[in-house]
Amino acid sequence: MKQIAILGSTGSIGVSTLEIVAAHPDKFRVISLSGAKNLELLARQIRQFRPKLAAVADPADIPRLKELLAGVEVELTGGVEGLCAVATASGVQMVVAAIVGAAGLVPTAAAIRAGIDVALANKETLVTAGHLFMNLVEQHKVKLYPVDSEHSAIFQSIEGHRSQDITKIILTASGGPFRESSLEKLQTVTIQDALNHPNWSMGRKITIDSATMMNKGLEVIEARWLFDAPPDKISVNIHPQSIIHSMVEYIDGCVIAQLGTPDMKAPIAYALSYPERVSTGVKPLDLTELSGLTFSKPDLERFPCLGLAYRALGEGESMPAVMNAANEVAVEAFLNGRISYLQIARLIEKTMDAHQAHRLGSIEEVLEADQWGRTTAQDICTTLQTGRCL
Ligand code: NAD
Ligand code: MG
Repeated sequence: MKQIAILGSTGSIGVSTLEIVAAHPDKFRVISLSGAKNLELLARQIRQFRPKLAAVADPADIPRLKELLAGVEVELTGGVEGLCAVATASGVQMVVAAIVGAAGLVPTAAAIRAGIDVALANKETLVTAGHLFMNLVEQHKVKLYPVDSEHSAIFQSIEGHRSQDITKIILTASGGPFRESSLEKLQTVTIQDALNHPNWSMGRKITIDSATMMNKGLEVIEARWLFDAPPDKISVNIHPQSIIHSMVEYIDGCVIAQLGTPDMKAPIAYALSYPERVSTGVKPLDLTELSGLTFSKPDLERFPCLGLAYRALGEGESMPAVMNAANEVAVEAFLNGRISYLQIARLIEKTMDAHQAHRLGSIEEVLEADQWGRTTAQDICTTLQTGRCL
Protein backbone atom coordinates (compact mmCIF):
# COMPACT_ATOMS: atom_id res chain seq x y z
CA MET A 1 0.00 0.00 0.00
CA LYS A 2 1.56 3.29 -1.10
CA GLN A 3 0.51 6.35 0.89
CA ILE A 4 0.26 9.45 -1.27
CA ALA A 5 -0.24 13.20 -1.08
CA ILE A 6 -1.68 15.13 -4.03
CA LEU A 7 -0.78 18.78 -4.49
CA GLY A 8 -3.41 20.19 -6.88
CA SER A 9 -5.95 17.37 -6.52
CA THR A 10 -8.76 19.41 -8.11
CA GLY A 11 -6.96 19.95 -11.42
CA SER A 12 -6.88 17.80 -14.51
CA ILE A 13 -3.87 15.73 -13.35
CA GLY A 14 -5.16 15.60 -9.75
CA VAL A 15 -8.55 14.24 -10.82
CA SER A 16 -6.95 11.59 -13.07
CA THR A 17 -4.65 10.60 -10.20
CA LEU A 18 -7.64 10.10 -7.90
CA GLU A 19 -9.34 7.97 -10.56
CA ILE A 20 -6.33 5.64 -10.49
CA VAL A 21 -6.35 5.60 -6.68
CA ALA A 22 -10.09 4.80 -6.68
CA ALA A 23 -9.51 1.92 -9.10
CA HIS A 24 -6.76 0.42 -6.88
CA PRO A 25 -7.78 0.84 -3.24
CA ASP A 26 -5.52 -2.10 -2.35
CA LYS A 27 -2.45 -0.28 -3.75
CA PHE A 28 -2.84 3.41 -2.96
CA ARG A 29 -4.17 5.43 -0.03
CA VAL A 30 -4.56 9.23 0.02
CA ILE A 31 -3.07 10.82 3.12
CA SER A 32 -3.40 14.49 2.14
CA LEU A 33 -4.80 16.72 -0.62
CA SER A 34 -4.64 20.34 -1.70
CA GLY A 35 -6.69 22.56 -3.98
CA ALA A 36 -7.19 26.24 -4.67
CA LYS A 37 -10.44 27.75 -5.89
CA ASN A 38 -12.72 24.79 -6.58
CA LEU A 39 -13.80 24.19 -2.95
CA GLU A 40 -16.87 22.12 -3.86
CA LEU A 41 -14.77 19.59 -5.75
CA LEU A 42 -12.12 19.54 -3.02
CA ALA A 43 -14.85 18.86 -0.43
CA ARG A 44 -16.27 16.01 -2.55
CA GLN A 45 -12.78 14.51 -2.90
CA ILE A 46 -12.23 14.73 0.87
CA ARG A 47 -15.57 12.99 1.52
CA GLN A 48 -14.69 10.21 -0.92
CA PHE A 49 -11.00 9.63 -0.11
CA ARG A 50 -10.96 10.58 3.59
CA PRO A 51 -7.46 12.12 3.82
CA LYS A 52 -6.14 13.07 7.26
CA LEU A 53 -5.17 16.56 6.08
CA ALA A 54 -6.24 18.98 3.33
CA ALA A 55 -5.07 22.46 2.36
CA VAL A 56 -6.40 25.34 0.29
CA ALA A 57 -4.12 27.88 -1.38
CA ASP A 58 -5.85 30.84 0.29
CA PRO A 59 -6.37 30.45 4.06
CA ALA A 60 -9.41 32.77 3.78
CA ASP A 61 -11.21 29.84 2.09
CA ILE A 62 -10.87 27.52 5.11
CA PRO A 63 -14.17 28.54 6.83
CA ARG A 64 -16.16 27.89 3.62
CA LEU A 65 -14.44 24.51 3.16
CA LYS A 66 -15.25 23.67 6.80
CA GLU A 67 -18.93 24.42 6.10
CA LEU A 68 -18.89 22.13 3.08
CA LEU A 69 -17.35 19.38 5.22
CA ALA A 70 -19.70 19.46 8.18
CA GLY A 71 -19.48 16.12 10.00
CA VAL A 72 -16.29 14.99 8.24
CA GLU A 73 -13.20 14.37 10.32
CA VAL A 74 -10.27 16.06 8.57
CA GLU A 75 -7.65 18.62 9.51
CA LEU A 76 -7.83 21.73 7.31
CA THR A 77 -5.04 24.17 6.68
CA GLY A 78 -4.05 26.80 4.09
CA GLY A 79 -1.48 29.02 2.42
CA VAL A 80 2.02 28.01 1.38
CA GLU A 81 2.63 26.53 4.84
CA GLY A 82 -0.52 24.45 4.50
CA LEU A 83 0.59 23.19 1.07
CA CYS A 84 3.95 22.23 2.58
CA ALA A 85 2.16 20.43 5.42
CA VAL A 86 0.19 18.42 2.84
CA ALA A 87 3.41 17.58 1.00
CA THR A 88 5.15 16.38 4.16
CA ALA A 89 2.25 14.87 6.15
CA SER A 90 3.26 11.96 8.34
CA GLY A 91 3.18 8.63 6.51
CA VAL A 92 3.33 10.12 2.98
CA GLN A 93 5.59 8.05 0.73
CA MET A 94 4.95 9.83 -2.56
CA VAL A 95 3.83 13.33 -3.46
CA VAL A 96 2.05 13.92 -6.75
CA ALA A 97 3.13 17.47 -7.63
CA ALA A 98 0.22 18.66 -9.80
CA ILE A 99 -0.11 22.34 -8.94
CA VAL A 100 0.10 24.52 -12.04
CA GLY A 101 2.85 27.12 -12.39
CA ALA A 102 5.60 28.39 -10.13
CA ALA A 103 3.21 28.07 -7.15
CA GLY A 104 4.26 24.40 -7.05
CA LEU A 105 7.89 25.22 -6.29
CA VAL A 106 7.93 25.58 -2.51
CA PRO A 107 5.67 22.62 -1.55
CA THR A 108 7.49 20.31 -3.98
CA ALA A 109 10.85 21.36 -2.48
CA ALA A 110 9.41 20.71 0.99
CA ALA A 111 8.52 17.13 -0.01
CA ILE A 112 12.03 16.47 -1.31
CA ARG A 113 13.63 17.96 1.81
CA ALA A 114 11.47 15.61 3.89
CA GLY A 115 12.90 12.67 1.89
CA ILE A 116 9.64 11.92 0.07
CA ASP A 117 9.57 10.62 -3.53
CA VAL A 118 7.88 12.88 -6.07
CA ALA A 119 5.71 12.11 -9.11
CA LEU A 120 6.28 15.34 -10.97
CA ALA A 121 3.61 16.87 -13.21
CA ASN A 122 4.49 20.48 -12.32
CA LYS A 123 7.09 21.06 -15.05
CA GLU A 124 7.46 24.74 -14.05
CA THR A 125 9.40 23.50 -11.01
CA LEU A 126 12.25 22.17 -13.16
CA VAL A 127 12.01 25.06 -15.62
CA THR A 128 12.51 27.70 -12.94
CA ALA A 129 14.88 25.89 -10.60
CA GLY A 130 16.16 22.79 -12.42
CA HIS A 131 19.68 22.69 -11.02
CA LEU A 132 18.55 23.41 -7.45
CA PHE A 133 15.87 20.73 -7.61
CA MET A 134 18.14 18.09 -9.06
CA ASN A 135 20.71 18.90 -6.35
CA LEU A 136 18.01 18.57 -3.68
CA VAL A 137 16.89 15.25 -5.16
CA GLU A 138 20.45 13.94 -5.00
CA GLN A 139 21.15 15.35 -1.56
CA HIS A 140 17.99 13.84 -0.02
CA LYS A 141 18.23 10.62 -2.05
CA VAL A 142 14.64 10.77 -3.26
CA LYS A 143 13.24 9.46 -6.54
CA LEU A 144 11.72 11.85 -9.07
CA TYR A 145 9.27 10.16 -11.45
CA PRO A 146 8.06 12.08 -14.50
CA VAL A 147 4.31 12.41 -15.03
CA ASP A 148 4.52 14.50 -18.20
CA SER A 149 3.71 12.01 -20.98
CA GLU A 150 6.82 12.86 -23.05
CA HIS A 151 9.15 12.47 -20.10
CA SER A 152 7.45 9.28 -18.99
CA ALA A 153 8.03 7.99 -22.54
CA ILE A 154 11.73 8.91 -22.34
CA PHE A 155 11.98 7.40 -18.86
CA GLN A 156 10.51 4.16 -20.25
CA SER A 157 12.78 4.27 -23.31
CA ILE A 158 16.06 4.69 -21.40
CA GLU A 159 15.53 1.95 -18.85
CA GLY A 160 18.40 -0.50 -18.93
CA HIS A 161 20.56 1.75 -21.14
CA ARG A 162 23.72 3.74 -20.41
CA SER A 163 23.35 7.52 -20.61
CA GLN A 164 26.61 7.84 -22.58
CA ASP A 165 25.06 5.74 -25.37
CA ILE A 166 22.23 8.25 -25.92
CA THR A 167 22.76 10.52 -28.92
CA LYS A 168 19.42 12.32 -28.94
CA ILE A 169 16.20 12.77 -27.03
CA ILE A 170 13.31 13.43 -29.41
CA LEU A 171 10.26 15.02 -27.83
CA THR A 172 7.08 14.70 -29.84
CA ALA A 173 4.57 17.54 -30.02
CA SER A 174 1.04 17.42 -31.38
CA GLY A 175 1.40 20.95 -32.79
CA GLY A 176 -1.81 21.94 -31.00
CA PRO A 177 -4.87 23.56 -32.58
CA PHE A 178 -2.80 25.96 -34.74
CA ARG A 179 -0.40 23.44 -36.25
CA GLU A 180 -1.41 24.39 -39.77
CA SER A 181 -2.58 27.98 -39.23
CA SER A 182 -0.84 30.73 -41.20
CA LEU A 183 0.74 33.70 -39.43
CA GLU A 184 -2.06 35.83 -40.85
CA LYS A 185 -4.71 33.53 -39.37
CA LEU A 186 -2.88 33.52 -36.01
CA GLN A 187 -3.49 37.29 -35.76
CA THR A 188 -7.20 36.76 -35.26
CA VAL A 189 -7.50 33.48 -33.32
CA THR A 190 -9.75 33.60 -30.25
CA ILE A 191 -9.42 32.28 -26.69
CA GLN A 192 -11.88 29.51 -27.58
CA ASP A 193 -9.82 28.51 -30.66
CA ALA A 194 -6.69 28.28 -28.48
CA LEU A 195 -8.46 26.23 -25.78
CA ASN A 196 -9.60 23.68 -28.35
CA HIS A 197 -6.75 21.12 -28.19
CA PRO A 198 -7.12 18.31 -30.75
CA ASN A 199 -5.75 15.37 -28.67
CA TRP A 200 -5.47 16.15 -24.95
CA SER A 201 -7.93 17.42 -22.35
CA MET A 202 -5.94 19.48 -19.82
CA GLY A 203 -6.02 22.54 -17.54
CA ARG A 204 -6.43 25.96 -19.21
CA LYS A 205 -2.85 27.18 -18.74
CA ILE A 206 -1.16 24.12 -20.26
CA THR A 207 -3.75 24.09 -23.07
CA ILE A 208 -2.73 27.63 -24.07
CA ASP A 209 0.93 26.63 -23.66
CA SER A 210 0.24 23.81 -26.10
CA ALA A 211 -1.32 26.20 -28.61
CA THR A 212 1.76 28.49 -28.51
CA MET A 213 4.12 25.49 -28.19
CA MET A 214 5.61 27.07 -25.06
CA ASN A 215 4.55 23.78 -23.49
CA LYS A 216 7.10 21.98 -25.67
CA GLY A 217 9.68 24.62 -24.79
CA LEU A 218 9.06 24.04 -21.07
CA GLU A 219 9.35 20.31 -21.74
CA VAL A 220 12.73 20.75 -23.46
CA ILE A 221 13.99 22.47 -20.30
CA GLU A 222 12.33 19.80 -18.13
CA ALA A 223 14.08 17.06 -20.15
CA ARG A 224 17.42 18.86 -19.81
CA TRP A 225 17.23 18.49 -16.03
CA LEU A 226 15.42 15.18 -15.65
CA PHE A 227 17.79 13.34 -17.99
CA ASP A 228 20.90 15.50 -17.60
CA ALA A 229 20.91 16.11 -21.36
CA PRO A 230 22.63 19.06 -23.06
CA PRO A 231 20.20 21.29 -25.05
CA ASP A 232 21.72 20.35 -28.42
CA LYS A 233 20.82 16.72 -27.76
CA ILE A 234 17.12 17.52 -27.27
CA SER A 235 15.03 17.97 -30.38
CA VAL A 236 11.32 18.35 -31.12
CA ASN A 237 9.27 16.57 -33.78
CA ILE A 238 5.73 17.54 -34.67
CA HIS A 239 3.65 14.37 -34.55
CA PRO A 240 -0.04 15.34 -34.83
CA GLN A 241 -1.46 11.93 -33.87
CA SER A 242 0.13 11.95 -30.35
CA ILE A 243 0.65 8.18 -30.48
CA ILE A 244 4.43 8.17 -30.04
CA HIS A 245 4.92 10.06 -26.79
CA SER A 246 8.67 10.59 -27.31
CA MET A 247 11.80 8.73 -28.42
CA VAL A 248 15.43 8.15 -27.56
CA GLU A 249 18.11 7.70 -30.21
CA TYR A 250 21.23 5.66 -29.42
CA ILE A 251 24.80 5.61 -30.65
CA ASP A 252 24.15 2.50 -32.78
CA GLY A 253 21.37 4.22 -34.75
CA CYS A 254 18.56 2.48 -32.86
CA VAL A 255 15.60 4.57 -31.74
CA ILE A 256 13.39 3.43 -28.86
CA ALA A 257 9.94 4.97 -28.55
CA GLN A 258 6.94 4.58 -26.26
CA LEU A 259 3.49 4.46 -27.84
CA GLY A 260 -0.04 4.57 -26.50
CA THR A 261 -3.48 6.13 -26.69
CA PRO A 262 -3.11 9.73 -25.51
CA ASP A 263 -4.43 9.59 -21.93
CA MET A 264 -2.58 11.04 -18.93
CA LYS A 265 -3.77 8.17 -16.73
CA ALA A 266 -1.05 5.96 -18.25
CA PRO A 267 2.00 8.09 -17.31
CA ILE A 268 0.43 9.03 -13.94
CA ALA A 269 -0.10 5.35 -13.08
CA TYR A 270 3.46 4.47 -14.11
CA ALA A 271 4.88 7.19 -11.86
CA LEU A 272 2.71 5.95 -8.96
CA SER A 273 3.40 2.25 -9.34
CA TYR A 274 6.95 2.10 -10.80
CA PRO A 275 8.51 -0.40 -11.36
CA GLU A 276 5.23 -2.29 -11.45
CA ARG A 277 2.40 -1.52 -13.84
CA VAL A 278 -1.28 -1.29 -12.92
CA SER A 279 -4.44 -1.29 -15.04
CA THR A 280 -5.60 2.22 -16.02
CA GLY A 281 -8.63 1.72 -18.25
CA VAL A 282 -6.70 3.45 -21.06
CA LYS A 283 -7.82 2.05 -24.40
CA PRO A 284 -5.12 -0.27 -25.77
CA LEU A 285 -3.58 0.86 -29.01
CA ASP A 286 -4.69 -0.83 -32.24
CA LEU A 287 -2.19 0.38 -34.84
CA THR A 288 -4.30 -1.09 -37.64
CA GLU A 289 -7.02 1.44 -36.79
CA LEU A 290 -4.66 4.37 -37.47
CA SER A 291 -4.38 5.83 -40.93
CA GLY A 292 -0.75 6.84 -40.35
CA LEU A 293 1.84 8.40 -38.10
CA THR A 294 3.42 11.57 -39.46
CA PHE A 295 6.35 13.74 -38.37
CA SER A 296 7.70 17.15 -39.29
CA LYS A 297 9.99 19.89 -37.98
CA PRO A 298 8.47 22.70 -35.90
CA ASP A 299 8.17 26.12 -37.54
CA LEU A 300 9.81 28.60 -35.17
CA GLU A 301 8.45 31.56 -37.10
CA ARG A 302 4.86 30.61 -36.35
CA PHE A 303 5.75 29.18 -32.93
CA PRO A 304 8.33 31.64 -31.53
CA CYS A 305 7.73 30.48 -27.94
CA LEU A 306 9.61 27.26 -28.64
CA GLY A 307 12.61 29.30 -29.80
CA LEU A 308 12.34 31.52 -26.71
CA ALA A 309 12.55 28.45 -24.47
CA TYR A 310 15.71 27.23 -26.25
CA ARG A 311 17.12 30.75 -25.86
CA ALA A 312 16.30 30.77 -22.11
CA LEU A 313 17.89 27.36 -21.70
CA GLY A 314 21.01 28.56 -23.55
CA GLU A 315 21.34 31.72 -21.44
CA GLY A 316 20.56 29.70 -18.32
CA GLU A 317 20.87 31.05 -14.76
CA SER A 318 17.75 33.12 -13.95
CA MET A 319 16.50 33.40 -17.56
CA PRO A 320 14.23 30.30 -17.62
CA ALA A 321 12.54 31.44 -14.35
CA VAL A 322 11.93 34.89 -15.85
CA MET A 323 10.66 33.38 -19.09
CA ASN A 324 8.32 31.10 -17.16
CA ALA A 325 6.98 34.00 -15.07
CA ALA A 326 6.43 36.13 -18.19
CA ASN A 327 4.65 33.21 -19.81
CA GLU A 328 2.30 32.79 -16.83
CA VAL A 329 1.47 36.51 -16.95
CA ALA A 330 1.02 36.41 -20.74
CA VAL A 331 -1.26 33.35 -20.69
CA GLU A 332 -3.45 34.89 -18.01
CA ALA A 333 -3.59 38.21 -19.89
CA PHE A 334 -4.60 36.33 -23.05
CA LEU A 335 -7.28 34.33 -21.19
CA ASN A 336 -8.62 37.59 -19.71
CA GLY A 337 -8.82 39.14 -23.16
CA ARG A 338 -6.14 41.74 -22.41
CA ILE A 339 -3.71 40.72 -25.16
CA SER A 340 -3.99 38.86 -28.44
CA TYR A 341 -2.60 35.39 -29.12
CA LEU A 342 0.46 36.66 -31.00
CA GLN A 343 1.22 39.13 -28.22
CA ILE A 344 1.88 36.22 -25.83
CA ALA A 345 5.27 35.52 -27.44
CA ARG A 346 6.01 39.23 -27.85
CA LEU A 347 5.39 39.87 -24.16
CA ILE A 348 7.65 36.99 -23.12
CA GLU A 349 10.43 38.07 -25.49
CA LYS A 350 10.35 41.69 -24.33
CA THR A 351 10.51 40.57 -20.69
CA MET A 352 13.49 38.35 -21.47
CA ASP A 353 15.20 41.19 -23.40
CA ALA A 354 14.87 43.38 -20.30
CA HIS A 355 16.49 40.76 -18.08
CA GLN A 356 20.15 40.29 -17.27
CA ALA A 357 20.56 36.60 -16.37
CA HIS A 358 22.22 36.02 -13.01
CA ARG A 359 23.07 33.01 -10.88
CA LEU A 360 20.35 31.58 -8.62
CA GLY A 361 21.70 30.00 -5.45
CA SER A 362 18.51 29.21 -3.55
CA ILE A 363 14.76 28.68 -3.97
CA GLU A 364 14.27 32.15 -2.40
CA GLU A 365 16.37 33.66 -5.21
CA VAL A 366 14.31 31.73 -7.77
CA LEU A 367 11.16 33.23 -6.25
CA GLU A 368 12.75 36.71 -6.50
CA ALA A 369 13.55 36.17 -10.19
CA ASP A 370 10.01 34.86 -10.68
CA GLN A 371 8.61 38.00 -9.03
CA TRP A 372 10.85 40.24 -11.13
CA GLY A 373 9.61 38.46 -14.27
CA ARG A 374 5.97 38.88 -13.25
CA THR A 375 6.25 42.58 -12.42
CA THR A 376 8.21 43.36 -15.58
CA ALA A 377 5.82 41.35 -17.75
CA GLN A 378 2.81 43.11 -16.18
CA ASP A 379 4.37 46.50 -16.97
CA ILE A 380 5.13 45.47 -20.56
CA CYS A 381 1.63 44.03 -20.85
CA THR A 382 0.18 47.44 -20.04
CA THR A 383 2.27 49.09 -22.77
CA LEU A 384 1.26 46.36 -25.24
CA GLN A 385 -2.39 47.02 -24.42
CA THR A 386 -2.09 50.74 -24.98
CA GLY A 387 -0.40 50.01 -28.30
CA ARG A 388 2.76 51.93 -27.40
CA CYS A 389 4.90 48.85 -27.70
CA LEU A 390 3.66 47.36 -30.96
P1 NAD B 1 -5.16 22.51 -13.69
O1 NAD B 1 -5.28 23.97 -13.91
O2 NAD B 1 -6.24 21.62 -14.21
O3 NAD B 1 -5.00 22.22 -12.12
C1 NAD B 1 -4.08 22.91 -11.33
C2 NAD B 1 -4.20 22.53 -9.87
O4 NAD B 1 -3.35 23.42 -9.13
C3 NAD B 1 -5.60 22.69 -9.28
O5 NAD B 1 -5.82 21.71 -8.30
C4 NAD B 1 -5.55 24.06 -8.62
O6 NAD B 1 -6.44 24.15 -7.52
C5 NAD B 1 -4.12 24.12 -8.12
N1 NAD B 1 -3.60 25.48 -8.05
C6 NAD B 1 -3.67 26.45 -8.98
N2 NAD B 1 -3.07 27.58 -8.54
C7 NAD B 1 -2.60 27.29 -7.30
C8 NAD B 1 -1.89 28.05 -6.33
N3 NAD B 1 -1.53 29.33 -6.56
N4 NAD B 1 -1.56 27.45 -5.17
C9 NAD B 1 -1.90 26.16 -4.93
N5 NAD B 1 -2.60 25.41 -5.81
C10 NAD B 1 -2.93 25.98 -6.97
O7 NAD B 1 -3.74 22.08 -14.28
P2 NAD B 1 -3.30 20.65 -14.86
O8 NAD B 1 -3.61 20.59 -16.29
O9 NAD B 1 -3.76 19.56 -13.95
O10 NAD B 1 -1.71 20.79 -14.76
C11 NAD B 1 -1.02 20.69 -13.54
C12 NAD B 1 0.47 20.63 -13.82
O11 NAD B 1 0.74 19.46 -14.56
C13 NAD B 1 0.98 21.78 -14.70
O12 NAD B 1 2.25 22.15 -14.28
C14 NAD B 1 1.03 21.19 -16.09
O13 NAD B 1 2.01 21.80 -16.90
C15 NAD B 1 1.38 19.75 -15.78
N6 NAD B 1 0.94 18.78 -16.79
C16 NAD B 1 -0.38 18.64 -17.07
C17 NAD B 1 -0.81 17.74 -18.03
C18 NAD B 1 -2.26 17.53 -18.32
O14 NAD B 1 -2.59 16.69 -19.14
N7 NAD B 1 -3.18 18.26 -17.72
C19 NAD B 1 0.15 17.00 -18.74
C20 NAD B 1 1.49 17.16 -18.43
C21 NAD B 1 1.88 18.05 -17.44
MG1 MG C 1 3.60 16.84 -22.04
